Amino acid sequence: MARRSMKQKSPQKQRPIAQRRDRTKAAAHAAPAVKPRPKQARVVFAFGGGRADGNAKMKNLLGGKGANLAEMAGLGLPVPPGFTISTDVCTYFYEHGNTYPTGLDRDVTRQLARVEELVGRGFGDPQNPLLVSVRSGARASMPGMMDTILNLGLNDETVQGLIEQSGDRRFAYDCYRRFVQMYGDIALGLKPETKTENDPFEAIIEKKKHERGVRLDTELTADDLRELVTEFKAAVQQRRGVEFPDDPREQLWGAIGAVFGSWNNPRAIAYRKLNNIPDDWGTAVSVQAMVFGNMGADSGTGVAFTRDPATGANDFYGEFLMNAQGEDVVAGIRTPLPIKDLERENPKIYAQLLKIRRTLERHYREMMDIEFTIQQGTLYMLQCRVGKRTAVASVRTAVDMARERLITHSEAVSRVEPERLNELLRPVFAPAEKSRAISENRLLARGLNAGPGAATGRVAFHADDAEEMAARGEAVILTRIETSPEDIRGMNAARGILTARGGMTSHAALVARQMGKVCVAGCEALLIDYESATMRMAGRQEVIRQGDYLSIDGFTGEVFLGEVANTPSEIVQVLIDRTLEPEKAPVYQLYAQIMKWADRVRRLGVRANADQPDQCTQAVAFGAEGVGLCRTEHMFFGEGKIGPMREMILSETVEQRRAALAKLLPLQRADFEGIFREMNGRPVTIRTIDPPLHEFLPHDEAEQRALAAEMGIPFERVRDRVAALHEVNPMLGFRGCRLGIVYPEITEMQARAIFEAAVAVKQAGTPVEPEVMIPLVGHVKELKLQEEIVRRVAAEVVRDTGVRFKYLVGTMIEVPRGAISADEIGSVAEFFSFGTNDLTQTTLGVSRDDAARFLVPYVDKFDIYPKDPFQSLDQAGVGALMQIAVEKGRAARPKIKMGICGEHGGDPDSVIFCDRLGLDYVSCSPFRVPIARLAAAHAVLGAAGSGGENA
Ligand code: PEP
Ligand code: MG
Repeated sequence: MARRSMKQKSPQKQRPIAQRRDRTKAAAHAAPAVKPRPKQARVVFAFGGGRADGNAKMKNLLGGKGANLAEMAGLGLPVPPGFTISTDVCTYFYEHGNTYPTGLDRDVTRQLARVEELVGRGFGDPQNPLLVSVRSGARASMPGMMDTILNLGLNDETVQGLIEQSGDRRFAYDCYRRFVQMYGDIALGLKPETKTENDPFEAIIEKKKHERGVRLDTELTADDLRELVTEFKAAVQQRRGVEFPDDPREQLWGAIGAVFGSWNNPRAIAYRKLNNIPDDWGTAVSVQAMVFGNMGADSGTGVAFTRDPATGANDFYGEFLMNAQGEDVVAGIRTPLPIKDLERENPKIYAQLLKIRRTLERHYREMMDIEFTIQQGTLYMLQCRVGKRTAVASVRTAVDMARERLITHSEAVSRVEPERLNELLRPVFAPAEKSRAISENRLLARGLNAGPGAATGRVAFHADDAEEMAARGEAVILTRIETSPEDIRGMNAARGILTARGGMTSHAALVARQMGKVCVAGCEALLIDYESATMRMAGRQEVIRQGDYLSIDGFTGEVFLGEVANTPSEIVQVLIDRTLEPEKAPVYQLYAQIMKWADRVRRLGVRANADQPDQCTQAVAFGAEGVGLCRTEHMFFGEGKIGPMREMILSETVEQRRAALAKLLPLQRADFEGIFREMNGRPVTIRTIDPPLHEFLPHDEAEQRALAAEMGIPFERVRDRVAALHEVNPMLGFRGCRLGIVYPEITEMQARAIFEAAVAVKQAGTPVEPEVMIPLVGHVKELKLQEEIVRRVAAEVVRDTGVRFKYLVGTMIEVPRGAISADEIGSVAEFFSFGTNDLTQTTLGVSRDDAARFLVPYVDKFDIYPKDPFQSLDQAGVGALMQIAVEKGRAARPKIKMGICGEHGGDPDSVIFCDRLGLDYVSCSPFRVPIARLAAAHAVLGAAGSGGENA
């Protein structure tokens, strides 16, 4: 991501603009230092009073707030007049040492005059003062992250005019006190200096209340508030060494500078990082005539959504308070009333709001979030933006609006962020329960959010304990330093998996996702001691024993002590558990509708990575059109298979190996039959054995002795053979096609199991479409050697059974040499499947199992990769190799089938990239299939309109 850095200067350094100026009263107003104008001709845009220089499409320039104020003004809605200074000025400000382009001063003066005229008040006029708000507003909403100053224009003289206007002295001094407080904090930097210090202004207010013997701010009198103003200003002078400016123009420029400066305050920077908002966007500044919701009983303020943001229901939803300012609604001191009660309070205004609600929805064709103020019986619109909503509401508003013909089906599909489907597919912690756990200091640690969902259960440190506990009906969190294929059955039995090591494609992470398990991986704070079956967390006192409760949030990577209640997914209850009728499941119906529309649009096929018949059932229920990867090695840990597998590995002669393989053959065949039956004629890509053999071997003495006894050989032979198979660098060692090349009888057995299973299932009347896939091929000769075995065995099976069947032989492209020589490989392979887990590992030279330690700071701190490259494709690096492979592969074999089966196959951005590459399908874990289907539709529909809420 190319970003111009705007972070270097601390806000503290930016702020003193106002302080550096000449503070003598004689200085009319401190005009900003000037430099040549940026290229963009217009930098100040008017709105209100029958004019709108901008519109909603100009968010880049006007920020979301400025653009929507202009749009509402253009629609003729009652917007207090004002103007927006563009983000270009912000960029200029940062690039030119906190100065402004030439002519800005003139433009602002001109616009201010226009506002004065429209409102019939003068800026700084002691008799009839115009007050303004100065608000931030970036392209993307950054709620509460930047600063805003209200009631600007007040001083000891103009406050008298405000008393005249309002007829309410207390109100006027309250406005003044709020202004001095905000300006003193934001523009002049009077803030707490240490973590423990209270807000200096609040401390002064508290002291005053104490002196007056009152409890609430509202009990302070006009004179108390007037004194507060003086005391606030004195505190600013004393602690910041600056005089509080009385000149409204100086106040205005100070506020503009402070709002631009707030783009780079620490919380704004942190928010941008979390939400992938580029640092160089900058903020706009909107200056607008103030309206007051606290000007008596016929005034008020409120916020509302045009539809219910929690459920998406087509109801006007919101809250309001009479005789209050916006901050009172948010502050929670007074409880706001539901918007429907406004009908009783002021039926005319309520009717006007309902009309505006309709106008805005018709116009924006979106669910909107609005802010309004009623000043002495007149309604004003202060803000509107596309409303944030829950995942359910996101689907419901999209489907409903399409049915209301407000938007097209395609637009409805574009409106639902693929990743957010997760929230519909997984159990989630009830938000209140989670907040409670945090407030009770039960948030223990954070790891990688490797498998989404929420799980609570008892800790088991060993896979077999997990199995036993689950068999007793307990929910289990399998907690390991890391997992290996040996843990598969324990993982299957567990609700959730928690590991101390490993990245997003570590064994634990990818197996968990494939199984649909919640997983937090690479949680480095875990200090696990297997021997005592206890765990501690770095920096905490608690000792967690096997059987204690933990809760893990796979959406966020959080680990909690004890239980946290969660809510199950309606969709899973319908499709997977089959415990709920579709007719009784409204959320399921919405999901089904949006998926139907998505499927009509998408070009890419979507398959699943599945190794067991039950995973295939889930995958098909979620809409998979085939199996894109069956990792056969996972099957060897099933019932009765590990013994013969180990015998096979420990064999010292071909005969011994063949004898062991003969035992495995019927077991594998049965596995494949189950998968073919479940997939019912859909293509099934089965990969020959891939991982380093030692992963299957017993590593402790007891297990080695047991195996020796089982095999009738001395313990030492087993021990020595295990030692001999040890590799320094197993991921680059004796694995993948290398196993089948050196021990061709393994490939032979696997090919036979596949084809005999295909024949058996076909004979029973179910169509089959096997695709045999050779892993880790870097050289065409590797593939050729394996292909010959597969084709020979296929011919033998046809000859022996008399049954013909169609099949393909292809390869994974998962090492750079394979991608670069894809033309040679494509002359043999009938399909390519990109194994982007290994391709990322080998292209970046980064171990997929050990990366968490540095990849997290690589992404979060150093900005080296925008996202974890094991989660979202590194398009410039790994993606470029894929592109080479696609082009060369097609040159060699124009109709070659191509897909992806690395974990990236379920990542929306990567899916869109694969669509652009022209792949035929993506393959991902069953629970990500719906996400991939939706992302594939987004790829066709283009980025436009996608993710409306963030627009
Ligand atoms: C890959 O490398 O992308 C792949 C799918 O294979 P595995 O994860 O099993 O190595
Ligand atoms: Mg691989």
